[in-house]
Amino acid sequence: MTIMKVASFAAGEWVQPNSAARAIASAITGAQIAEAGNDNLDMQAMLDHARNVGGPDLRAMGFHDRAKMLKALALHLGQHKQELYDLSFDTGATQKDHLIDIDGGVGTVFVFASKGRREMPDGQVYIDGDIEELSRGGTFKGMHIATPLKGVAVHINAFNFPVWGMLEKLAPTLLAGVPAIVKPATASCYVTEACVRIMLDSGILPDGALQLISGGTGDLLDRLTAQDVVSFTGSAQTASMLRSNPNILKNSVRFVAEQDSLNASILGPDVTPGTPEFDLFIKEVHREMTTKAGQKCTAIRRIIAPEGQVQNVIEALSAKLDATPMGDPRAEGIRMGALVSAAQKRDVLEKAAMIGTESKRVYGDPEALPQQNAMGDVNPDAFVAPMLFHCESPDTATVVHETEAFGPVSTIMGYRDIDHAIELANKGEGSLVASVITASGDVAREVAMGAGAFHGRLYFNNATSMKESTGHGSPLPHMVHGGPGRAGGGEEMGGIRGVMHYMQRTAIQGSPDILSSIGGRWVPGSSEVEAPAHPFTRRFNDLAIGETIHTAPRTVTMDDIELFANFTGDTFYAHMDEDAAKRNPFFPGRVAHGYLLLSFAAGLFVEPNEGPVLANTGLDNLRFMTPVAAGESIQVRLTVKAKTRRTDEYGEVRWHVTLANQDGDLVAEYELLTMVAY
Ligand code: NAP
Repeated sequence: MTIMKVASFAAGEWVQPNSAARAIASAITGAQIAEAGNDNLDMQAMLDHARNVGGPDLRAMGFHDRAKMLKALALHLGQHKQELYDLSFDTGATQKDHLIDIDGGVGTVFVFASKGRREMPDGQVYIDGDIEELSRGGTFKGMHIATPLKGVAVHINAFNFPVWGMLEKLAPTLLAGVPAIVKPATASCYVTEACVRIMLDSGILPDGALQLISGGTGDLLDRLTAQDVVSFTGSAQTASMLRSNPNILKNSVRFVAEQDSLNASILGPDVTPGTPEFDLFIKEVHREMTTKAGQKCTAIRRIIAPEGQVQNVIEALSAKLDATPMGDPRAEGIRMGALVSAAQKRDVLEKAAMIGTESKRVYGDPEALPQQNAMGDVNPDAFVAPMLFHCESPDTATVVHETEAFGPVSTIMGYRDIDHAIELANKGEGSLVASVITASGDVAREVAMGAGAFHGRLYFNNATSMKESTGHGSPLPHMVHGGPGRAGGGEEMGGIRGVMHYMQRTAIQGSPDILSSIGGRWVPGSSEVEAPAHPFTRRFNDLAIGETIHTAPRTVTMDDIELFANFTGDTFYAHMDEDAAKRNPFFPGRVAHGYLLLSFAAGLFVEPNEGPVLANTGLDNLRFMTPVAAGESIQVRLTVKAKTRRTDEYGEVRWHVTLANQDGDLVAEYELLTMVAY
């Protein structure tokens, strides 16, 4: 059999392993299949390449260009999944596991592509939050912006998800406009290398946007600056060693850590055997114990059940584990594969033995052997069958709350009441996820209040949500992934929140015009640009930010109010009954409907003929400020606030609209959304 030479991609060149390479064995057969590592990689050249070639090209693009690039990348990867599946079996993973790693990784890139288009501007500056009013006269305001870091993102990943682990970090990094150097764990780096080759061969990424280190990182961390970010996934021990690197400390290099944690799942006090929720609990726990042979950072390590239900859970879970054959993941009928390596098995058995010092093993056998495949070449060195422990004294036990056996190992413990369950869940001192199976809103609220501070994610499930729920152990790109304390104190993904790790947030103070110029969005109080023609006759590309029209005034009559009330059926007393309206603290007497004013406003600013404005798609941030009585008038100001390209034919124009009365008082303010042809 030929040994795969797992290369690095450094400064634009593929670099083969050298004599310092480490051997990598198949988790299934134990035979060497690959080697990786080169102790002569020029780390400074890699950093220079990222900083001087990849970074400038990425930053020259806008968020939407980069989002489109991510979408193209995801589509391309989607066409090459089979190659990655084929390789991944040797890591011990089953086809179902591949769906989480490979399909899940590609899906994550799609989500970031779509969020980038929908939630970020079609430009280079991200505005974080609202404009802050810092002066009485409105001539000095504030806002927060985020711009891409000018350095490199160094991603150091764990072995268990060679594809998802890379892509969940790469997508937000590239969307931010920052180049990445990816360092996968050596045990499964051949899968990551194949995925990187697929991405680079596509030609979709600019030069220098993505580099790969297969093997050790040499002195890379000693060369990082404050413009760089390290995003680490792996064990608490390695995280602690790397984050205390003197150079990282000295330069305040951002260090995001996702590390192991003692995740828990609580069976609600309202759930009993024979209910859909009980079956759901068993299904969730079983899935977390056996998927990826328990090598998931989010796997359920501690099962917390009402004391009276512990035996029922053990029995139901044991029956389900009995029906989970372990062996060559390529073979028919196999439901659980191997750990990634013989070394990992040694580690898991060692940790299981530690757990066994204070808990009793109630299911599973550390000596159990995998099923043989047709070739008879399954080597048991990396296979561990699921093991369930029962901890009878969880209040005084320590190992079970501290020791992660990164394999199919879990411990059940009983609780007296929900406060006790919360206390036990929190004994992990910080986790990525805790789940609760309950139909009770009160229980859910108590857990959210009592355990929220200790867990990065709380997952509630019951009969209502179970069909569509995504699973205790599935980090989703939309939701924050990470956790406090033991889980590393980091936070990844969570939509655009995850992109912010690779950007600097800066407070900007200045006049409205200065803020408009920087943010590419018109800020109220900025100079207006006189429209050369009615803006509804102008195409998307011709409209300028700040372009404004002021309409003629229109007087509102009592007939208008009555007609509108009778036509729409909105005969609310404030519009119909003078005395009742006067008793209301908001109105001087009968007043016009807010919606009547909006409709009149549209009638005032609209240009009726067919033209580039295609549709009105909504209003944002509508406020009614001053009521309008019969005999008073309104006048409208319409300003182009922001433009966002949407499709090949049209883009969204966001207009800032104000209605003022005859005295110049603000009657209403809102943002109008329209689609306008290029
Ligand atoms: P690990 O041994 O801590 O290794 C993690 C990464 O760090 C690997 O890429 C490893 O590379 C690298 N590394 C180790 N020493 C290094 C050094 N001196 N300089 C630079 N890089 C170094 O963890 P693992 O065994 O791969 O992964 C299992 C652990 O990860 C489990 O504890 C699990 O809970 C945790 N995990 C957490 C998450 C999460 O999102 N929170 C996700 C998955 C896994 P080499 O392989 O080349 O040594």
